[in-house]
Amino acid sequence: MSMNREGRPTRPEAGEIMPPQTWTGNRALMLEEPLIFEMDERGGTGVDLAPAPQTVNRLGGLERNRPIGLPGLSEPQTVRHYTRLSRQNYAIDLGLFPLGSCTMKHNPRLCEKVARMPGFADIHPLQPTDTVQGALALIRMLGEWLVTLTGMHSVAMSPKAGAHGELCGLLAIRAALEARGDARAVVLVPESAHGTNPATAAFVGYRVESIPATDRGRVDFDALKARLGPDVAAVMITNPNTCGLFEPDMAAISEAVHAAGGLVYCDGANFNAIVGRVRPGDLGIDAMHINLHKTFSTPHGGGGPGSGPVVFSEALTPFAPLPFVERQGDQYVLVEEETAGDHHGSTFGRMTAFHGQMGMFTRAMAYILSHGADGLRQVSGDAVLNANYILRRLEDVLDAPFGKSGPCMHEALFSDKGFAGDLTTLDLAKGLIDEGYHPMTMYFPLVVHGAMLVEPTETESKATLDQFIGAMRSVAERAKAGDQSLKAAPVHAPRRRLDETLAARRPVLVYRQPEQAEAAE
Ligand SMILES: *Cc1c(COP(=O)(O)O)cnc(C)c1O
Repeated sequence: MSMNREGRPTRPEAGEIMPPQTWTGNRALMLEEPLIFEMDERGGTGVDLAPAPQTVNRLGGLERNRPIGLPGLSEPQTVRHYTRLSRQNYAIDLGLFPLGSCTMKHNPRLCEKVARMPGFADIHPLQPTDTVQGALALIRMLGEWLVTLTGMHSVAMSPKAGAHGELCGLLAIRAALEARGDARAVVLVPESAHGTNPATAAFVGYRVESIPATDRGRVDFDALKARLGPDVAAVMITNPNTCGLFEPDMAAISEAVHAAGGLVYCDGANFNAIVGRVRPGDLGIDAMHINLHKTFSTPHGGGGPGSGPVVFSEALTPFAPLPFVERQGDQYVLVEEETAGDHHGSTFGRMTAFHGQMGMFTRAMAYILSHGADGLRQVSGDAVLNANYILRRLEDVLDAPFGKSGPCMHEALFSDKGFAGDLTTLDLAKGLIDEGYHPMTMYFPLVVHGAMLVEPTETESKATLDQFIGAMRSVAERAKAGDQSLKAAPVHAPRRRLDETLAARRPVLVYRQPEQAEAAE
């Protein structure tokens, strides 16, 4: 029996007999939980409503004639159900979230507080603008910060995610090319790009051609130059790229693309690695989206929506979408109509019904103002420092394909080279779940076999990083030693290995009572 310092027994010695199974299926604080539909108590409810008064039925025979089929549960049953489910999940408030390319940012509570202020949270997009001056001022102010930080000319705030921002940027590029009577057919995208880049270009109607990477993980500039010509509308380049590396040829790439009559789109999802240090406007970029939810905090993924404002060069500004916020005298106005002149004079239209994601704007603005310009610069420095610490502490146990070509940016890339037998990146990731971590991004970027992309957050302490590194080293050593027990991982999670392919291909989205399900078969 081991004891803690007060002499209380902590855990049993090896060899002590553990009970094989509990009667409930629960394992202490790990509680099993059925589906909410399986807990349905017909007629159960959390509220008591007085019967509805007699009203004249105006549905003309369209009224529902059978129960609605929602589970009937009391309030405490419902609260417990969702609380139990939430405890089976991983969260940024539980521990380090090493997902590369996603940038699971530090989410200060201050930003949450500001986002919930009634003047921002409880307003409606159709309210008269003189009643929402504060919100418009915030949108305008955030836009000015984004323009300043990127060294660009203007900004469209309405796109609702990174991919939506890509669409916005390419629609502006297409409008600009069409305006000069020079419709072009091809968009060049590097092999290492995020899947949204080629998808966006194809969605806008372009033919996508890919540009190879060099063995140093950068865009092959010579191959790119060789492919430029009168049919190339644009190149889409991510900088820093998805191998976690800065593209040192960026300014020269822009120059070459412009000389060939094309335009340069930058995927700015990784802006958090360079904010306060590099201005994309100085690198000749024409349009770039910023993932507010990656660079300027806010929970995303399962935790909330995104926001993808797009910054534009002077050349593309007339084609930017509506609406935008302008200051006229002492009033902020929302410009929703095409106006003559260079500012949005040839707009391609609108991206969304309203003005964008207000909740993300308030969080990003609170994040920016609480850090200040010097603080943002430190954020990018700390993000890069943390990633390089992980790179150097793991490169003796994990293959780092570009580790020799210098420091990385905000994320460190590893491969499965050297794993024994049939053990793979997936097995390592599952082993990491048993160690209590959400796995890193895996099998992306596609240019690296069995890729593992690890991005720590700039706010993680050295002690937290060291613990994560310890877990990674242990699982990596098991993979290299051919420890077959990794194939069974995770063994401590509420669920083991699920058939993710089947779940994606044949999702079951409607609950059927067991007897209905049988009848359907
Ligand atoms: C996240 C990401 C995107 C897409 O952004 P969403 O907000 O998820 O639509 C595009 N490119 C890169 C490199 C990204 O990391």
